[in-house]
Amino acid sequence: MLDLTPKELKTREALRINPCKTCQPVGAMYAALGVHRCMPHSHGSQGCASYHRTFLSRHFKDPAMASTSSFTEGASVFGGGSNVKTAVRNVFEIYNPDIIAIHTTCLSETIGDDMNVYIQDMDIPEGKYVVHTNTPSYVGSHINGFYNMMSGFINYLSKKTGVSNGKAAIFPGFVNPGDMRETKRLAKLMGVPYIMFPDTSGVMDAPMTGRFEMYPRGGTTIPEIISLGDCKKVIALGTITSAEPAELMKKKFKIPFSLLPLPMGIEATDRLIMELAGFSMQDVPYELEEERGQLVDILLDSHQYTYQKSCAIFGDPDTVLGLTAICTEMGMIPKYVITGHPKEDFVREADALFGKYGLTDCKARANADLFELHQLIKNDPVDILIGTSYGKAIAKAEGIPFVRAGFPILDRYVHSYLPLVGYSGTMRIVEKITNAIMDETDRNCADEDLEFVM
Ligand code: SF4
Repeated sequence: MLDLTPKELKTREALRINPCKTCQPVGAMYAALGVHRCMPHSHGSQGCASYHRTFLSRHFKDPAMASTSSFTEGASVFGGGSNVKTAVRNVFEIYNPDIIAIHTTCLSETIGDDMNVYIQDMDIPEGKYVVHTNTPSYVGSHINGFYNMMSGFINYLSKKTGVSNGKAAIFPGFVNPGDMRETKRLAKLMGVPYIMFPDTSGVMDAPMTGRFEMYPRGGTTIPEIISLGDCKKVIALGTITSAEPAELMKKKFKIPFSLLPLPMGIEATDRLIMELAGFSMQDVPYELEEERGQLVDILLDSHQYTYQKSCAIFGDPDTVLGLTAICTEMGMIPKYVITGHPKEDFVREADALFGKYGLTDCKARANADLFELHQLIKNDPVDILIGTSYGKAIAKAEGIPFVRAGFPILDRYVHSYLPLVGYSGTMRIVEKITNAIMDETDRNCADEDLEFVM
């Protein structure tokens, strides 16, 4: 039984208890699912592929298609070359994707399988493609896997012809299909021609038609990925998730990029809108001005219930930074801000947000886990917890309200269809947080104090 009584926190280097992240291939598989008619392929044992698929399917409530090199003892000792070559032949023959995106796993990385050599030796049908990325899971998190897979596609496919396609390449960050739809809506409203890469909308939120589609309509197409090299600019959302692919685009094709936070909260959404306006040279339409004004109105109305309420936020780095921005705009105190992703830039960016609002008693940690978060809350409680499904045990133990946001959400529905980004996504989060705080007040007050008109 774990001892959670309040005590001084000790720094742990070699142990994670209830990690606040998952393994690289989960992110790589998700990025590959955002490419049209792509079969993600896990180069490792069947157990890895099962885990990654299940994890994604449980969050999105939709099947995550993928194949595996199906390592057994032989491949583990002699290398997985023959397995992956047979697998690629079989997958093209039986499932007929346009492209197979291979990611490695702990096992294939440890034995040193060289995918570059294996791919050169493959029998790839005319007009089909195989790409790969390395995703050793003992380094980083699913966020690394996501951007490594993006870089894999760019390295293998994208080309510069010298003739601009006049488009913006929009990298959406590790977000839900609902967020990608919202970002595309904003780009369209601002008159920006774009290629979104990757794009899991229409794949991981595909409609029920009564017919099984192995490759639903959505996803960035292969010609679009090839054409990324001819884009005018990269708009990279999520300063931690999208930095590497944006830098790769600059290095390979000399395409300038703007690296922005996820558009969560008024200020960050304003930055995206201004960026889009700078690209298209169009005025902001009334539809967006109206949405922004509604959000300001909602923040004013709800402020009396959220002002100076303390919260703990945990999850993926860019999503947590976005949620922190929203909470500060709501007048809340983000006392603990935690990610499992091991990148200290996260702490620097969170500290900058605290500094902007004059918050001196807030802590940000990267490479942290939920045991540490629970200890922090035990030592000095918060009014509300915001994060993935894994927070519910902490919320229950401490008797605090809990708002689910981020990845993964395994125990609720609809979350992946609706946005957290943009003015409308921010409204949604403000609604969730405010109502959770007010529900708690109603639950705990005397009957005669129940208010019906606020
Ligand atoms: S063995 Fe490695 S790649 Fe496979 S599921 Fe575990 S952490 Fe992920």
